[in-house]
Amino acid sequence: MIILGEDSQRVKDRDAQEFNISAAKAVAEAVRSTLGPKGMDKMLVDSMGDVTITNDGVTILKEMDIDNPTAEMIIEVAETQEDEAGDGTTTAVAIAGELLKNAEDLIEQDIHPTAVIKGYNMASEYARDQVDEIAERVDPDDEAILKKVAETSMTGKGAELNKDVLSDLVVGAVQGVTVEADDGSHVVDLENVNIETQTGRTAGDSELLNGAVVDKDPVHDDMPKSAEDANILLLNEAIEVEETNADTNVSIDSPDQLQQFLDQEEEQLKAKVQKIVDSGADVVFCQKGIDDLAQHYLAKEGILAVRRTKKSDIKFLQNVVGGTVVSDLDSISADDLGFGTVSRDDADDLFYVEGEDAHGVTLLLRGSTDHVVDELERGITDALDVVAQTVSDGRVLAGGGAIEVELASRLRDYADSVSGREQLAVEAFADSLELVPRVLAENAGLDSIDTLVDLRAAHEDGHARAGLNVFTGEVEDTFEAGVVEPAHAKEQALSSATEAANLVLKIDDIIAAGDLSTEGDGDEGGAPAGGMGGMGGMGGAM
Ligand code: ADP
Ligand code: MG
Repeated sequence: MIILGEDSQRVKDRDAQEFNISAAKAVAEAVRSTLGPKGMDKMLVDSMGDVTITNDGVTILKEMDIDNPTAEMIIEVAETQEDEAGDGTTTAVAIAGELLKNAEDLIEQDIHPTAVIKGYNMASEYARDQVDEIAERVDPDDEAILKKVAETSMTGKGAELNKDVLSDLVVGAVQGVTVEADDGSHVVDLENVNIETQTGRTAGDSELLNGAVVDKDPVHDDMPKSAEDANILLLNEAIEVEETNADTNVSIDSPDQLQQFLDQEEEQLKAKVQKIVDSGADVVFCQKGIDDLAQHYLAKEGILAVRRTKKSDIKFLQNVVGGTVVSDLDSISADDLGFGTVSRDDADDLFYVEGEDAHGVTLLLRGSTDHVVDELERGITDALDVVAQTVSDGRVLAGGGAIEVELASRLRDYADSVSGREQLAVEAFADSLELVPRVLAENAGLDSIDTLVDLRAAHEDGHARAGLNVFTGEVEDTFEAGVVEPAHAKEQALSSATEAANLVLKIDDIIAAGDLSTEGDGDEGGAPAGGMGGMGGMGGAM
């Protein structure tokens, strides 16, 4: 009995698994070459011709025009990793791809996918327990360690050239927004770190500022350009004449009437400015427009006013100076005002705004061009996340593949205690983790097999922190060498990679309303492998 529509397509059992696994592997392949300090960048051109140059796994996958349901599941791994840990997206996706590749081999040996799934779950859980056991506990105030965590996450990214300066700024920013709770735990609120970017100078000229930065000019030349210990009004209402009802036509028959009309408008503006004066404000950051005449009145009153301030800046200014954002001048009171000092940087045309007890810091990132600054910002955002995590979580690991090889070795011991076919899956999981050092070596132009042999030998000898120095090709204690990663990100990568792989493995039947191989790859017919045509956009982007 046929119950499916004429255009729909169905792929079952082994074919379905093959179809899905090949899509997932393709996604993992696409980001692999960016992994690690020696990873290469990708240039992505979108349909509008806009160019992004990046090394960031999640950015690559988001920008790629991928049109394949399985591939999209793998991209979700990157997104989860980005949300939960901020870094390690390439690692998570690469491990997910390798888990699936190894699962394919097991399935070919007639091991049922459910046994693979069960084994992977057991291995993932065991590995995460081991991460906790292996992790070093660090003092959240230990700036030297925090700097290393920041530098490790910047390595291979746009931020790397100036990593000494930038890691200091990142650590300073995180410490600036860290509060020690009563129970001794450290709470970091990254909402209070604002990132501003400016092109023109080099990344090494980036700065960390207490408070906010507003990239605007005063609206009127006669206004003061700075204000110490000032009352600051954050306003979300235009200081303009209120539009009369659009349908009302004001008919003006004589010069007198015109004058009367203009006088009325003038009065309205004066009244608005007077309300601001009465509130006691010295500075106004207005999210909307300010009429020319109102600007003049404000200048006469010695008030510094800025118009069309970005909404995000207004929100952040509120963190810094306090007060409330006023959206109706009629109900303004002195309590609504914030308090702080506004100063002017004439060289860069910026206002610096510092609050009384500043609840916010600004990282002012500089770079020569937009592409440079954008990639710098992505790198710095990752670094902020991992440093924040290290401060609140307090656990770190040796990077450069050290943790992956140690986990693989422990998993192989654990596999001996696992009975049945799951044992093979646990071993396959261990092999999959070793992809990380293999790819780190590959991307550095080193022999990945030799590297893995050396690494395994070092771990057999009890050197749990032995990892790859990608610059020399030597195996060394990467923790001592300063390659330090937060434990939380690694745990997250293990669990999201496993979940995604298992999700794909559970599928044994694909029913598509339409052709699975989309976007005109019709010549390949309905064969499962032809489904990769759905990733046509990807080929173009690479
Ligand atoms: P991800 O998106 O997974 O964070 P990265 O390109 O940032 O990918 O690479 C992270 C990997 O690079 C980690 O395994 C980390 O330990 C490794 N790594 C970073 N710095 C170094 C270094 N100096 N030497 C060796 N490995 C490094
Ligand atoms: Mg990284």
